[in-house]
Amino acid sequence: MSGVSAATAGTAINAKGGLRECMFTVTTDDGTLHVADDEGERGQEGPFYVVYRTADRERRWGYYCSNCESVDVAMDSMRRIRCNGCGNFTKPDEWDSAHE
Ligand SMILES: [Zn+2]
Repeated sequence: MSGVSAATAGTAINAKGGLRECMFTVTTDDGTLHVADDEGERGQEGPFYVVYRTADRERRWGYYCSNCESVDVAMDSMRRIRCNGCGNFTKPDEWDSAHE
């Protein structure tokens, strides 16, 4: 066999064109947190991104509100995510049912 040149075959590359490039850090009272902006939930004012304590995404911390750039985000028992800073929130009823 020859012509194996497609290094990206079988590798998930997102629209931003990189692996793990889609992550940035925020500094909070809790220390430095890692925001995965390719992971999250759609909010009414803007997406919520998943926040991890570590860059390898091993320990989940919470959510980041892209609307006001805050991690002061809470989730209630209905799995609704709400930002305490700007009031951005998700409405699970409106999510694509194929998601889960
Ligand atoms: Zn917010």
